[in-house]
Amino acid sequence: MTTNESAVGEADWRRATELIRASDTLALACHVSPDGDALGSMLGLGLALARTGRKVVASFGDRVFAVPRLLRSLPGQHLLVEPPAYPAEPDLMITFDASTMERLGLLAPHAGKAGELVVIDHHVSNTRFGTVHLVDPAAASTTTVVEELVNRLGLPIDREVATCLYVGLVTDTGSFRHSITTPAAHAMAGRLLATGLRPEEIARELWDRSPFAYLRVLGTALGRATLEPGAAGGLGLVWTYVSRADRAAEGLPYDEVEGMIDVVRRVDEAEVAVVLKEDDEGGWNVSTRSKGAVDVARACAALGGGGHPRAAGFSSALSVADTMAALRPLLAPEGSPS
Ligand code: AMP
Ligand code: MN
Ligand code: MN
Repeated sequence: MTTNESAVGEADWRRATELIRASDTLALACHVSPDGDALGSMLGLGLALARTGRKVVASFGDRVFAVPRLLRSLPGQHLLVEPPAYPAEPDLMITFDASTMERLGLLAPHAGKAGELVVIDHHVSNTRFGTVHLVDPAAASTTTVVEELVNRLGLPIDREVATCLYVGLVTDTGSFRHSITTPAAHAMAGRLLATGLRPEEIARELWDRSPFAYLRVLGTALGRATLEPGAAGGLGLVWTYVSRADRAAEGLPYDEVEGMIDVVRRVDEAEVAVVLKEDDEGGWNVSTRSKGAVDVARACAALGGGGHPRAAGFSSALSVADTMAALRPLLAPEGSPS
């Protein structure tokens, strides 16, 4: 795929705005286990559209439907419906931050039956599974694409809409630390801050608080962290896991451990960091991060997942040891024989 093919074309912008303007009812969906960008982009557009008097429903296809604690203060939660209440065959459906139809989970069949399907995303791996594609791999976040869409629709971005868009921007840029932190990303932050949103309150909700039980579970997981200097083509691998038994011992919900990779990935001696997180059903969600030499999106895609070159993930039904045995050989640096 060349970059030209994946940039958003004028025809797609025109088609998307025409479809949205002509719709009284819209069905929005973001990827399962939503992060700040998935929920922020969906609720940001949802709020902007709801204010025009349109009927908007928004959801995500998790079997157990719950907004992660970190994201519960996002505006627009009243737009959320659980998957059983989602329209079976929406005339117009819009997806957010989902690179494939499968990432919609329980809502994938609804997308398959939608009259028109507008796909809004920034993953380079997006499979273009809709009828209209607003997919920009150069965008720092899906909320970046949504900001342009709202502007093209001629709708105002008030403080609540801006808060949703800002949450996607700060989470996907790692608070403006990742390589995707362009002048455009900071310029967008400046526009959103000008609406009066409170960056210190947002940051505190997202990263600077947790129940005491998190410290205990973090201690357990860090206590068993393993450094493998020879792995990842000799560049080093650090990994650990957090089981549902670890969490049950402290009464900690799953969503509290979602961000544990951000502690583990700081290790100097490792190019790649991995955290395996067991959910309440006994499946494992695997977070992977690299510093740039290893394309973890490719490794995770080979195991049925995906993501970005330096931040990717996959689900595994195997044991911890077997999951790591499958992943380890895929972590070869770019250009080296695997
Ligand atoms: P996480 O480690 O959960 O923060 O995920 C990092 C990135 O990997 C996300 O932004 C997604 O792009 C991607 N990702 C995570 N899990 C999956 C999955 N099961 N399938 C496809 N992409 C995933
Ligand atoms: Mn996401
Ligand atoms: Mn994103």
